[in-house]
Amino acid sequence: MSESVESVIPAGSGPFAMTSPATGARLDAVEATALEGDGGIAAIVEKARKAQAEWAAVDVHKRIKAIAAVKKRILAHAEAAAKTVHEETGKPEVEALLGEILASADVVSYWADIIADELEPFEAEIDAMSYPKKSGLIHRDARGTIGMIMPWNFPYALPLRTLIPALLAGNAVVFKPSEITPRTGKLVAALFEGLVPAGLVGLVQGGGDAGARLCAADVDLVVFTGSPASGRKVAHACAERLIPCTLELGGKDAAIVLADADLDRAANGIVWGAMMNAGQNCGAVERVYAEQKIAKALTDKVIAATRALRVGDDVGPLTTAAQRDTVARHVEAARAAGAVVHVGGEAVDAPRSKLGYQPTVVTIDAEDNPLVADETFGPVVPITAVADVDEAIRRANASRYGLTASVWTADVRRGEALAKKLRAGVVTINNHSFTGALPSAPWGGVGETGWGITGSPLALDHLTRPRFVCVDRNRAAREMWWYPYSDTLKNIALAFARLRGGAPSIGSRIGALFALIGLLPKRMGELKAATKSAAVLDRGKSAS
Ligand code: NAD
Repeated sequence: MSESVESVIPAGSGPFAMTSPATGARLDAVEATALEGDGGIAAIVEKARKAQAEWAAVDVHKRIKAIAAVKKRILAHAEAAAKTVHEETGKPEVEALLGEILASADVVSYWADIIADELEPFEAEIDAMSYPKKSGLIHRDARGTIGMIMPWNFPYALPLRTLIPALLAGNAVVFKPSEITPRTGKLVAALFEGLVPAGLVGLVQGGGDAGARLCAADVDLVVFTGSPASGRKVAHACAERLIPCTLELGGKDAAIVLADADLDRAANGIVWGAMMNAGQNCGAVERVYAEQKIAKALTDKVIAATRALRVGDDVGPLTTAAQRDTVARHVEAARAAGAVVHVGGEAVDAPRSKLGYQPTVVTIDAEDNPLVADETFGPVVPITAVADVDEAIRRANASRYGLTASVWTADVRRGEALAKKLRAGVVTINNHSFTGALPSAPWGGVGETGWGITGSPLALDHLTRPRFVCVDRNRAAREMWWYPYSDTLKNIALAFARLRGGAPSIGSRIGALFALIGLLPKRMGELKAATKSAAVLDRGKSAS
């Protein structure tokens, strides 16, 4: 029961998980990247930086052609990749195929279709009266070399969600997969081999110390997905270096079920949302708030749907022993606080693994119990009956996390109105969390879920930086606001202030306009005179 990840790592094999949670079989050895020296992390970053300079200069359509070819590789190796994900994480192969492999192929198509338009420079609006003959274009330049640190729960899809848009936008990426899923990480990096300049996609294998070294290396941005504890360390490291980072951290998603909901759909959706990937999903249903009127009926249906699950086929084992221990600890804490465990509630040997935990349904009325306050990351549905929707919203929002939430109701308008009251980055009406697979949908949260967006063009706000290029076609020797300052210039500024809303009446606005018409030629005269006297001085200086 207390077998830890560390205990299954043979001495000398580095920080890597060596036993499959799915099968109990020994996994291939993985070589850790040297923290220092030749071939070390800093050297990999340096190589990526050199490749990035070359890659950013490549026409975007050529970059698209190269990256689009990754889709074919993803699909051609779908079965082998799903098998590796299954062996390393324990999730059923069908889940890996649907949620990781096919979803990643969609990510390639989406970004290949939109990136050229998204990177097209666009014009800034400039007021021609205040700033005559000026125009400006906003370009989106690559951020540079990105350090990307990933967790183990979606080891194929998560890195690709960032890699694809980052590379298309002209960046290099040095990628550190989790030490639990290094073999899947290797497959992801290999997808780009021969399609992009050598070194553009760097691979760093190792644990937290390797991740820390990557943050300290010469990267321009760190994209991090993982736990709040590690996220805090990454944020500190990036603050030290004054580089940006994006943090996609934990979740404690609430599902709110209203009295008018279709209870069969809600129960099945909640069970899938809670049990998928054995609950090891940042966007898993981890709390259910059901209106009193239907709470019992919903609970019965959730229990029935949970009983029908087959451990092994539908719900895999936990990926690590540490994770299984957390789940057991949370369920025990709930039991100790008087919660009722209706089904499950025990660790169980999955068919070929010692890391199973029974799919579990608990009814609980507590706000600070670990099962409702902390991220459980396991196959457990805690259900709480609430008096009304206001209580449901209050309880749902009383979390330090805020990734996704769902509202289950027959009244879609009401669901949309409630969505605005929920403190979450994603709200789904009559479904839960699947939008992580939609490349067009932003994914991100609030509070201890961190900051940073993957999915949708908003992801480019991190992966690129704006460069504003302003062209001035004004031939005058001096701009109106240049030296010398004078009362005329001050009065022009005051007239502008009245014209732009400071005037108490239309009459004084018209007065300001007339004042301006008189002041502008006067100012032109001042500027001409100043230029002329400067020229005289200049000539005098040359003559002497
Ligand atoms: P983790 O924080 O233990 O590890 C994540 C990664 O960070 C690993 O690659 C690890 O080696 C690395 N790391 C550890 N310490 C580091 C340090 N000091 N500096 C740099 N890197 C370091 O998380 P995990 O257990 O792998 O993943 C589970 C967590 O990820 C859960 O909290 C889950 O909610 C979260 N998650 C969030 C999202 C999201 O989109 N918000 C998606 C998936 C997972």
